[in-house]
Amino acid sequence: MSKVKVPVARPVIGAAGKTGIWRVSRPVVDYSRCTLCGICWLYCPDSVVEISEDKKRVVIDYDYCKGCGICSVECPFNAIKMVREEVR
Ligand code: SF4
Ligand code: SF4
Repeated sequence: MSKVKVPVARPVIGAAGKTGIWRVSRPVVDYSRCTLCGICWLYCPDSVVEISEDKKRVVIDYDYCKGCGICSVECPFNAIKMVREEVR
């Protein structure tokens, strides 16, 4: 079966396009609850949720996660909490 290439919203070049700097809250995964169902991966509008190489964890690319919270709302196992970013 051929692989389907999933379109990503992440810019290819340069740090200037790192949308993670907009974020007010960050999604934090509770791995004791996560079942690797992939719903967060499916719903993330920026395609910044990935499965780790060892296939044991979901990994969020915070350079590009804009903190919209959709993953947290859609996770059927309540495994993602939105945590307020600290003001620097
Ligand atoms: S939706 Fe929730 S349970 Fe499913 S992979 Fe994402 S964090 Fe894990
Ligand atoms: S907060 Fe939004 S952009 Fe960040 S991982 Fe969740 S769904 Fe994707």
